Amino acid sequence: MRVRIEGIGECYSGQIEASRLDVQSIDIVDGRIEGFDRVPGDSYDARIDAAGGAVLPGLVDGHVHPAFGEWTPTQDAQGWIGNYLHGGTTTMVSAGELHIPGLDYANLSPELVTSIAVVSAATTGRIRWRGVRVHAGTCLLVPGMTEHHFDRLAAAGCRFVKFIFFPLEDRREEAIRMVGWARARGMRVKVHTGGVSRSGASRMCGYSTLDWLQPDVAAHVSGGPIPMPDEDIDALVDHTGFALEVCSSGNDRSTLRLVRRLMEQGQLARLTLGTDTPGGTGVIPRGLFRTLLFLSGVCGMSPGEAIACATGNTARAHGLDVGVIAPGHPADIVIAGRVDGSAGPGFEHALAHGDFPGISSVLVEGIPMVIGRSEQTPPAARPALFSCCNFSWLGNR
Ligand SMILES: [Zn+2]
Repeated sequence: MRVRIEGIGECYSGQIEASRLDVQSIDIVDGRIEGFDRVPGDSYDARIDAAGGAVLPGLVDGHVHPAFGEWTPTQDAQGWIGNYLHGGTTTMVSAGELHIPGLDYANLSPELVTSIAVVSAATTGRIRWRGVRVHAGTCLLVPGMTEHHFDRLAAAGCRFVKFIFFPLEDRREEAIRMVGWARARGMRVKVHTGGVSRSGASRMCGYSTLDWLQPDVAAHVSGGPIPMPDEDIDALVDHTGFALEVCSSGNDRSTLRLVRRLMEQGQLARLTLGTDTPGGTGVIPRGLFRTLLFLSGVCGMSPGEAIACATGNTARAHGLDVGVIAPGHPADIVIAGRVDGSAGPGFEHALAHGDFPGISSVLVEGIPMVIGRSEQTPPAARPALFSCCNFSWLGNR
């Protein structure tokens, strides 16, 4: 399968260093980016004219709470994953399947949390949802788990574990042991931070805990929804080196403080993004892009850097090979442009002003899953155009 994107006006790499590429066309073969600015071949399954618009990696939402496929019980909504695809998201990482109706947070056993993760990986995580890959099956760690449980998780393809209900300060040695067991099996460790969450049962976590726990990703450090104290945010930036996540569910004031400090210290490569939805914040198809726009429109980051936080940074922190526009990587790509009425003459100006762009196409592994315009954004003033398309392979998705 061969796809070519041409007529690119602005190309964003998804990498914090060198976030812009001087590229006018991208060739895609069998779902992966083959190269840039090649002489066009004569047979393509799809040829897409970006019409001078912007090309960027599909967004990576590092913090979602799936339950059962596209149904979310927290808002009793259907089809949320497909709606997020139309907001530009092509990959999601579960932060735990904790919204299963009837789940008793006060009585979670090692068997139960392991079983939930295994079932989630084998269902929501097994297939793509309108192209979107959801890395589901993130185990919510509880005391009493043994290496046997971690073996079961690894065998089921679970890639992440998370501390949220675990009494970290009361059981430090046990927590550190679990971090080691997870890493020995190639799993990454996330931890809920800040105040109590919607569950009412999550444990508070700030710098003094994170300093010894040393997770791979500290989740929603500016609030999910309640942030840790300002001094803890500062200390995290100054004295630790792991990934720091900001979520759409958080406290904007704390996000501004965190981002400014990371920028001052040249540490933007540590910043990852998520929505922390579905949940009490709702179902927000444009949520991740809105958080990206807060970084570019309010926090003073360049549009290319803000895009990198929502794509390459988040993918790398979770060990995923998506989120960058580079040869050999999956061709998960968003084509977007400025909307009539938004600030400035181009996509970059709109993002710098914090204005939402119009998404006209989303490709997942080279296959156009959104064609012409997104159902969730205003139309781009100049949408991408498709030609010489052979859509017979669409039925394979
Ligand atoms: Zn969460």
